[in-house]
Amino acid sequence: MSQLPRATIHLSNIVANWRALDGLHPGATTSAVVKADGYGLGAGPVSRALMRAGCSSFFVAYLEEGLALRKTLGLGPRIFILNGPTRKEMSAYVTAGLTAVLSSPDHVKAWANAPKGTAALHFDTGMNRLGLKPSVLQTALPALHKLQPVLVMSHLACADEKANPMNAAQRKAFDDISAAFPDTPASLANSDGCYLGKAFGYDLIRPGLALYGGTHPPKGLRINAGLTLDAAILSVFDAEMGEKVGYGATHTLAQDTVLATVGIGYADGLLRGGANALIAYLDGIACPVLGRISMDLVTIDVSKAQDKAKAGARVEFIGEHAKLEDQAARAGTLGYELLTGLSNRVERVYA
Ligand SMILES: *Cc1c(COP(=O)(O)O)cnc(C)c1O
Repeated sequence: MSQLPRATIHLSNIVANWRALDGLHPGATTSAVVKADGYGLGAGPVSRALMRAGCSSFFVAYLEEGLALRKTLGLGPRIFILNGPTRKEMSAYVTAGLTAVLSSPDHVKAWANAPKGTAALHFDTGMNRLGLKPSVLQTALPALHKLQPVLVMSHLACADEKANPMNAAQRKAFDDISAAFPDTPASLANSDGCYLGKAFGYDLIRPGLALYGGTHPPKGLRINAGLTLDAAILSVFDAEMGEKVGYGATHTLAQDTVLATVGIGYADGLLRGGANALIAYLDGIACPVLGRISMDLVTIDVSKAQDKAKAGARVEFIGEHAKLEDQAARAGTLGYELLTGLSNRVERVYA
């Protein structure tokens, strides 16, 4: 078997996560956000599995991602392109049946003169990232209605902070917007937005990260690991108290230690920020990362798992034991960055 680092993608867990979110908002359509190659896990296989489970709306960021997804999924499902079209791209949207998410007055003007295709309207309710300002409702509502949007949407800035007053403020602003489009489905919630209560569900929810096993779900909601990232032990050896480990000699052994060198590094997406902090798991036993993470290698303390620590044994870096969000926090980042940072060298296996 290959010694490459390996991401085993658990499609059945991803489908179960989609169903769990669907159950939180039974009145809303549950879409799937599969941008950035399905957060690194493979937009094609993930979307096919979700489509089989009944998902019929998908979101990506770019036209190119949408074209690839259309090829994968066929003509049935609706595919939204979040970043919006350039004038030159518009005919490709229409040919491939992709839904343009219009988020600027320029988009709206260009789309109004383009060959007829389906469009969604994205409003900015406080994040100042993408979106039409709500004030356009005073000046351009008839023109917006004329586009016959299939969705009006906005995006939450602070959904991961339940008590942040931004959430209620954005919801209130979005209520006014959706009221101006009484016949158009409305959508506000990303994954964390789904945890903010029924009022955030509207007609369509847009989870991404939670499908793949991220976020901090509320008590009672089970979100399973979307992948297991593991890598092979290359060598196991004894080292003595006082010796140093890795580049920069940033770790000094506090006692005699059994070390293992594992074939995974920052070139695979194992974040350097996780030096002296990440925890690997060997058969469920915690083995702390010692020292810096190299390009292709990392050193772990296997003193507590000596009988299992052998060349060829595989060590888990993300998965059932090494929880995505815990591991990301140890590296000073988020599950999003850890997932989307997994590089091409990591072998993908679908289970
Ligand atoms: C990425 C994205 C989502 C999905 O967000 P998660 O936090 O991953 O659930 C939803 N809506 C928009 C507009 C996005 O850009």
